[in-house]
Order: sequence, then C-alpha cells, then structure tokens
Amino acid sequence: MYKAQHGIIILSLLIVVYKGLMHTFIWPVDIVELALELVMVVTCCAVMYYIEQLKSSPRIYWLLLLGSGLYYFSSYFDALEEFFLEKPLGYLNIAEVVKAVGFILLFIGIHSLISRHRLLIKELKIAAQTDHLTGLLNRRAFFERMLSNSQVFENTQGAFLLMDIDHFKGVNDNYGHALGDTVLADTAISLRNSTREYDILARWGGEEFLLYVNDITQDKALNIAEQLRRHVEALSFDYKGEKIHCTMSIGLHSVNVNCNVELEVACADKALYQAKSQGRNRVIVYNEAEFAAAEQKTGTPNPNHKIANG
Ligand code: GH3
Ligand code: MG
Ligand code: MG
Repeated sequence: MYKAQHGIIILSLLIVVYKGLMHTFIWPVDIVELALELVMVVTCCAVMYYIEQLKSSPRIYWLLLLGSGLYYFSSYFDALEEFFLEKPLGYLNIAEVVKAVGFILLFIGIHSLISRHRLLIKELKIAAQTDHLTGLLNRRAFFERMLSNSQVFENTQGAFLLMDIDHFKGVNDNYGHALGDTVLADTAISLRNSTREYDILARWGGEEFLLYVNDITQDKALNIAEQLRRHVEALSFDYKGEKIHCTMSIGLHSVNVNCNVELEVACADKALYQAKSQGRNRVIVYNEAEFAAAEQKTGTPNPNHKIANG
C-alpha cells in the first residue's frame, strides 16, 4: 500500500480522537454525531486499505476512491475549523456539500461492491458444481442433488443409469483428443436433451455419465436407457470429411430414492461391466441374485471394471 494512504488513515483517526478529547459534548446529539463520524472515518480507512485490490473493477474503484477522498477532504476542513476557531469564507456550505457527495459516492460504491461479491459467489458456486467440458453436473454436485432430491421425491422408486462410451480411447488415439472432447460434449448435450428437467445427470468420470431417473419403474427406465443408447448411436462426428460414430453401454439399477448412492451406483457399474463383456452398445439391468451367482461361479467379483475418478 502507498505511504500516502497510511498518512491519510492516521491523520483521519487523529482528527476524530482530537475532536473527541477537545469537545464538551451535549448528550445525545454530539455523541451520536461523533459516533457516526467515527464509523465513516473507519469505513473510509478500510476503503483506503483495500482500494488497490479493487483496480480490476474500475467503476467500483473510482466510486470508492472519490467517495472516501471527498469525505476526508470535508473532514480536514472540519479540523481546520477546530484549530482556527473561525470558519474560512464560505466554508460551511462547501464542506457540507462535499461531505454529502462523498457519502453518496461511498454508499453507491459499497453497494456495487457487495452486489459484485454476491454475483461472484454465485458464479463460483456454479463453477464448483459444473463439469467444464460438458456443462453437466460434476460428481460432487450429483451427490448434493441426490440428497435434496430424496426429500422432494421421498420414498419413490427411481433408477441409476451408468453410461460409458465404448472404445473411447480409440477415438482419442485415431482422431485426436480434440475430437474426443467434441464427442464428450455432444454426447452430453444429447443426453441432456433426452432427459427430464428434474432427473439428475452428471459427468461421472472421463467418458462415463450417470443419470438418476426419478419416480420410475424398472421397465420404463429400461425404455429410457434404450432411447438414450440409440440417440448416442445416431450421433455423427465429422473428422476431415469422414463420418465417425460412437456407441454407449449402459448399466441400469432400480433403487429407492433414499438409497446409499455409492453402494447402488457400484451395482449399476457391475451391470455396465456385463454390458461391456457381452459386446458393448447395450443396456444391462442389474439383478442381485443373477450377479451374485455369476460372481460365485467365476470367483472374481466384477473383474476389473472400476468407477472412473471425477
Ligand atoms: P471401454 O469400451 O471398455 O469403455 O473402453 P474405453 O476405451 O472407452 O475406456 P478406457 O477406460 O480404456 O479409456 C477411456 C479414455 O477416455 C482414456 C482417457 O484418455 C479418455 N478421456 C478421459 N477424459 C477425457 C477428456 O476429458 N477428453 C478426452 N478427449 N478424452 C478423455
Ligand atoms: Mg470408462
Ligand atoms: Mg469407455
């Protein structure tokens, strides 16, 4: 911070202390006036202290700088009056007008600063919940939404659809990472457009998406999953004039909305693994008895499929 700012702050505080010590105060008017002046001076001091950090918002910077500057200016005139015990010519009106203008500018500046902070917090909140590439919710936001969702759709049946683009590594390897990103973004748009506003869709990991469909039977959820699979299959991506197509495997698991999300998504993941091992581009419904029997037979629970990291 500039040395001049330190000087201004110290001088202003000294003036208030001087006024406090030298005056004989009449209760309550003078005390209230002095308290108000102290609040204003402390506010101006705080503004001076942080003003450098506000240069990125020129409007707020100038409003606060001018507001506090004018307020200080009128305050020093006040002090002159205290020292010389006589008012300089025309002082009263000018000082009062300057003080009022300073106060108004300061008020508008502080109001704008608070509004800007509110907006920033809102933007940060959205950014913290959103996956940058696809614009969908991220994994953390999915858990948060499920929590509030379970209060709205209390005790209803729903379904998790864990979706994974098939052979996606090949898309990156053969056509480049940029086309891979386009495939992810367009797939996300297609999924978003095919789901209802109150269902919860998130990018679960690299090329995996998780959808929770609210208030639905298993049969209807299976229809939705099939539709989503077909929509993705129908997408086409242009690579140097060549048309590229992708497919998607889906693991479906019907649950109650108040379930333990992590445990139940792990079941959907088992179904997804089955979809992969049965040839991909299909939907498999999780069935506890069948899956337990299969695991016992192979002795390897869900061989190596993992839930991708967010
Ligand atoms: P499978 O059919 O068994 O699902 O095979 P796969 O190739 O789709 O799956 P694998 O897990 O082998 O590869 C996933 C790839 O996704 C590897 C990783 O580089 C890529 N990936 C993850 N995140 C992104 C991303 O944000 N952009 C791009 N372009 N690629 C990504
Ligand atoms: Mg995967
Ligand atoms: Mg994949």
